[in-house]
Amino acid sequence: MAASPPPPRTTDERMPRRRPGGRWLIAVLVALALNLLVVPRLIGGTSRHELPYSAVRVQVDADNVSAVTATGDALVGTFRTPVEFPAASGKMVTEFSTQRPTFADDGLAEVLTDHGVTLEAEPVSSGTGWLTALLINMAPVLLLIGGYVWMMRRATDGMGGIGGMSGIGGIGRSTAVRSDELGHHTTFADVAGIDEAKDELVEIVDFLRAPERFHALGARAPRGVLLMGPPGTGKTLLARAVAGEANVPFFSMSASEFIEMIVGVGASRVRDLFERAKQVAPSIVFIDELDAIGRARGSVASFGGVDEREQTLNQILTEMDGFTGNEGVIVLAATNRPDVLDPALLRPGRFDRRVSLNPPDQAGRSAILAVHTRGVPLADDADLHQIASTTPGMVGADLANLVNEAALMAARRAHERVTRADFADALERIVLGAERKIMLTEDDRRRTAYHESGHALLGMLLPGADPVRKISIIPRGRSLGVTFQSPAADRYGMSEQELRDRIVGALGGRAAEELVFGDLTTGAESDLEQVTGIARQMVGRWGMSKGVGPMSVLPEAGADVGFGTMDPRSPSEATRQLVDAEARLIVDECHERALDVLQRERPRLDRLAAALLARETLGEADAYEAAGVTPPPKPVT
Ligand code: ADP
Ligand code: MG
Ligand code: ZN
Repeated sequence: MAASPPPPRTTDERMPRRRPGGRWLIAVLVALALNLLVVPRLIGGTSRHELPYSAVRVQVDADNVSAVTATGDALVGTFRTPVEFPAASGKMVTEFSTQRPTFADDGLAEVLTDHGVTLEAEPVSSGTGWLTALLINMAPVLLLIGGYVWMMRRATDGMGGIGGMSGIGGIGRSTAVRSDELGHHTTFADVAGIDEAKDELVEIVDFLRAPERFHALGARAPRGVLLMGPPGTGKTLLARAVAGEANVPFFSMSASEFIEMIVGVGASRVRDLFERAKQVAPSIVFIDELDAIGRARGSVASFGGVDEREQTLNQILTEMDGFTGNEGVIVLAATNRPDVLDPALLRPGRFDRRVSLNPPDQAGRSAILAVHTRGVPLADDADLHQIASTTPGMVGADLANLVNEAALMAARRAHERVTRADFADALERIVLGAERKIMLTEDDRRRTAYHESGHALLGMLLPGADPVRKISIIPRGRSLGVTFQSPAADRYGMSEQELRDRIVGALGGRAAEELVFGDLTTGAESDLEQVTGIARQMVGRWGMSKGVGPMSVLPEAGADVGFGTMDPRSPSEATRQLVDAEARLIVDECHERALDVLQRERPRLDRLAAALLARETLGEADAYEAAGVTPPPKPVT
């Protein structure tokens, strides 16, 4: 890296200041509140003394009252000569107020006139003075108007001077966090196992460090970089690392935060976010979970919030189009679902650069484990390569979690260092769920033992199935037993035969119950979900059926909100039926096969179930031995 990073900027020298408008409004509101509190006291007269009506009445009869003003039954007046009240207290009262009981039918008016008292009356509502009355009447309205104006000002031009970290920022202000205000830097050293993605971002870092060099060569800066990858692969982490490496301000915001109940706020937050980023350029704007607002417009049948989402999305597009290329603001965004993004986002000049983050391979997992065990004392037997080899399919977030669970496990066992066993047990806990202390009846245990043995035996016998690592009939989470299988090496694709074998294995539990007990229970629910999922995808996405042929007619698995009903890509009713029929065909064939194999291998099934009943949990070697099957060759690690 040729250029040295620029010194970090402080917030004060670059951040825009709050406009005086807000202050002015607050001053008015404060003045209003003061009025409401103080004015009644002034007008109501602090020197007046509240007297009982009877005491006043006595003075009237004694000709000692000079004037009375009545507001309804509330009277205020003046004594001709001061009266001591309360009696013998030494306090002399001239100005008095009193409340005439409403039921007092004493002809007060005549009495007063008879005694030569000046009598005035005011309308009831006028209270203690016209000014106060006015204010009291107007206060709610003024407050409403004031509050509204205040909100609107903040919503529309909420350029604030305070960093957005408070979380109580104005409604239209983005609550984006500047990472350099957090005082902690994430760098590329914190990111491992996704080297291709990292390499692609090095260029971005170079640009942010020395934009002049690029401008001098006439190179246009990339505007938007979209990080795509499954959850937990490190998209957010990588974006932070780019900012940390480049040592520039980093405004990060999750797209879901843009979407608020108040329409128009999302868009103004975007505006604010970009405004702030431009002020301190070169800088990074990071929009996490872009799919929350970036879904293809008009594709999702939604309960509302659609306008808001669209407005927000449009504002992002507008901001990105508005770049001349010299602002030095680079927009990073992350998504798990690039497939649902609005095509407009992917047009040139917007997120034209796309970086894929893939689940790490074994070497990558090893490197990620190394990052996360930097501060963890490891026992000599804890071998990160070995752990990496037992965690295929796990992503960075899973591995970080595994390290943490293992450390917790070690602490619970009062180990000084985290051992291999701590890791193994932590992994089991994560993969299989925590054990539950419930007592199964003998009947349930037997059923569960056969069910799991069915899965396991098919897993051992079918060539396309993953090796069986563990079988257990200790209840965990929602299930009464588990069979844990994992591949010997990382896999990047599966053949039709492997998928079919997987379905057969998943149906094995139910098939074993059918075979041994002749009836069925509800215990196979999640197996069936898995089976259905695989079969439907084989037909609808991977072109593995004759009926549908080599066509992709279904949205991606897990795309619960994939194609909306209005989306032209959504399959027709006839297609859906065809997919269902073809999937059923596959499942039926696999079911037959499961029954077939188990029937033929019934002695092995019985032996495995018996071993399981006796020992509750069988490791890989014990399981294969009990079933009399040769274990798969050990992977070389
Ligand atoms: P994503 O945004 O892709 O869902 P995150 O970046 O939020 O994933 O990852 C969550 C956590 O998992 C990170 O904070 C980090 O601790 C860990 N992690 C994920 N990927 C990696 C990686 N490639 N290297 C090191 N740690 C990682
Ligand atoms: Mg993330
Ligand atoms: Zn099962």
